[in-house]
Amino acid sequence: MVDRVVCTVDGCGNAILPETAQETGGPCMACVGKKKAAERRAHIEANRVDIDRFAGVTDPVEILALMSQRPKFDPLVRHVSYPESAYDVYVRLSPDQIAAVRDRVIRLLETDAEQAAEIAGELTTFTTGEFGPLHEAFFQRDSLWPPYIFRGAAASVRDRLIRALDGPDLRRNHALLALAWIGDPVVVSQFNAWRRTPPQWAAELHVEPHDYAKAAGWELSSDGARRELTVQPCFALVPDRADSSEVVVVTDRGDRCPWCEQPLIDLLAIDMAVSEFSSWGMRHPRVTITTCHVCSGYGTVFCDSTTEGSARWSKHNVKPDYLPDDAANWGRMPTRYLGAAAQSRPPHTAIDWMTDVTLSQVGGLPSWIQDEAHPKCPGCNSTMMFVGQVSNEELAEFSEGVYYAFFCRECGIGATEYQQT
Ligand SMILES: [Zn+2]
Ligand SMILES: [Zn+2]
Repeated sequence: MVDRVVCTVDGCGNAILPETAQETGGPCMACVGKKKAAERRAHIEANRVDIDRFAGVTDPVEILALMSQRPKFDPLVRHVSYPESAYDVYVRLSPDQIAAVRDRVIRLLETDAEQAAEIAGELTTFTTGEFGPLHEAFFQRDSLWPPYIFRGAAASVRDRLIRALDGPDLRRNHALLALAWIGDPVVVSQFNAWRRTPPQWAAELHVEPHDYAKAAGWELSSDGARRELTVQPCFALVPDRADSSEVVVVTDRGDRCPWCEQPLIDLLAIDMAVSEFSSWGMRHPRVTITTCHVCSGYGTVFCDSTTEGSARWSKHNVKPDYLPDDAANWGRMPTRYLGAAAQSRPPHTAIDWMTDVTLSQVGGLPSWIQDEAHPKCPGCNSTMMFVGQVSNEELAEFSEGVYYAFFCRECGIGATEYQQT
């Protein structure tokens, strides 16, 4: 029989198991582990160095190259991050620098296709340049992702994408998305041809070939024309413009959701009297998107506009099969925390939700986290126009997901969709 031996560390008192007990007692395994961890932390803190990979680098092409290389993790090294976002560096590039980044991406495609794709996505989205050689290189390597890098691709790449769809082993999803982003009159007429006579390979797709257009913000109208599902100009929604009144982001209304009984909100209220929005072609004095921040996560929530420009819960709403039973515990969305930036930005700035740009915006193209999900208007059955989105992450810490807002000009009906990873 072994005597009960107790850990000698002050305040511990853990019994030490007979097989690990030393004859004279001592610290228990837990205390030994804690001591080692504390020593390790002290060692790291005493010896850690800050390394600024950007020190002395002034060439933005070099800065972007460094930003795209993630340094190897070393607990003894703390890497100083660059004071600007990649977006801010991209938008300052001169035409020569844009060409230099492009050429670097083409070389990188040979050794690290994934990183090349990431940089190509940022370059073609944030800047304008001669991207023909880049399109050619990605097409040659059968690297069709991300498909939006093909925006503005030349006829030669477009025609080979169309021909390649009939070939044996091309990724048809990616090729159709690339064509949707090109979206020129030849693509429109090809999508029409496929709608009239579906190709053999269409059977293996989840949607009809012409429906891929929606991922790039347009669709074929019933008479075969290109119909835009977006409005311009596009304004980011940013905290330092929260006091502005052109676009009011999240307000409490005072009425409650008939499904979950939580207070309803106006996600967006966009003043159509502002001259910048005249090109949106809306007939209502305001585009107001009334929604439930809980229920819109489980199904489309519609709202009906009033003639004065406010909105109410729509008579067209259909309760989803499933709704959470803890809606009362959901946090409220901060009200009037964002407002429209003073300057507009290109409509496609946020097409990739993973890039480091503000996602919240009015106008422009949506940042779909999942597949595109434009709702059909319950009044006229046409595809609804995207009018804006609010990123939860940009409203509150530890929140996620994006609320997408839609509107039908003809019927004055608004809609909210929600996606998250
Ligand atoms: Zn609700
Ligand atoms: Zn409608």
